[in-house]
Amino acid sequence: MNSTHSVAAHWGGEFDESGLQQWAESLRRQLPGEHPSLGLVFMTPRYFPQAKQVLEILQVHAQIPLLVGCSSESLIAGGEEIEEEAGIALNRGWVVVDDLMRTNLPGIFAIGDVTGRLPLAHVASAQGILAVEQIAGMEVSPLDMDAIPRCTYCQPQVASIGLSEAQARQRGFDVRVGRFPFLANGKALALGDHDGFVKLVADGASGRLLGAHLVGPEVTELLPELVLARAAALSPEQIARAVHAHPTLSEALMEAAHALLGRAIHI
Ligand SMILES: Cc1cc2nc3c(=O)[nH]c(=O)nc-3n(C[C@H](O)[C@H](O)[C@H](O)COP(=O)(O)OP(=O)(O)OC[C@H]3O[C@@H](n4cnc5c(N)ncnc54)[C@H](O)[C@@H]3O)c2cc1C
Repeated sequence: MNSTHSVAAHWGGEFDESGLQQWAESLRRQLPGEHPSLGLVFMTPRYFPQAKQVLEILQVHAQIPLLVGCSSESLIAGGEEIEEEAGIALNRGWVVVDDLMRTNLPGIFAIGDVTGRLPLAHVASAQGILAVEQIAGMEVSPLDMDAIPRCTYCQPQVASIGLSEAQARQRGFDVRVGRFPFLANGKALALGDHDGFVKLVADGASGRLLGAHLVGPEVTELLPELVLARAAALSPEQIARAVHAHPTLSEALMEAAHALLGRAIHI
């Protein structure tokens, strides 16, 4: 049994023993601080029929802002009840949220796989931070889903961020593409692992990096350089001009940027 289940079992036990009102009061007392800023509700399908009361008690009577979480499986098991009883809007089983992870009910957020957005651990984590920052009264901006790195740990590895060449063309950018094969990278040859390539997609008009698509050795470890480059709005020119150590796999990123500018050195 993992710690989440132990905590859920603890609160579930208290709920069964003391009933709804006392359970909420006990939860409120045990949360840190005189005016706790965060409440967590464990929604097992067993409690969905009482979900609305639980939410009301915690939010209105105990004045605890809520971060609501439950698994996709729980929603499949009790989706109708949570929609009908708690009034949280669902769309084909996913909790409907806006760009700031707010549900249709004020003060109630949903994050992670239950939202039906890109189902990745780092997305769930970033969404959680976004929700908690709002609960803490901080100013926030929506997540830029085009800036989310996507990694697949197969052989060879696959990693990407941002727009594909086709998506960039669809959105009307002046698309420039640069490719560089690991076959022409010294470190990849030394490793005996040279299948794959780096492909960069940029906007010719603004010089902005729009996307990056990598297949090959340790590309999931190479992608963060491009995640930062994109976040800092670095151009392919700046990536190409940044001297990369030899022999490293990262030279393939620099070479792809050179290729995009029409002046590849090693191909
Ligand atoms: C096999 C596999 C491999 C994956 N590999 C990757 C990867 O390499 N990289 C990546 O980024 N993502 C990966 N993912 C996706 C990633 O695991 C999910 O996107 C991420 O865990 C979603 O986080 P979450 O908090 O929404 O849900 P979860 O991580 O599923 O967390 C939900 C938690 O809630 C608990 N829970 C469920 N129901 C209740 C309830 N009713 N009451 C109380 N607690 C409850 C569960 O026990 C669980 O601990 C993988 C997923 C799978 C299945």
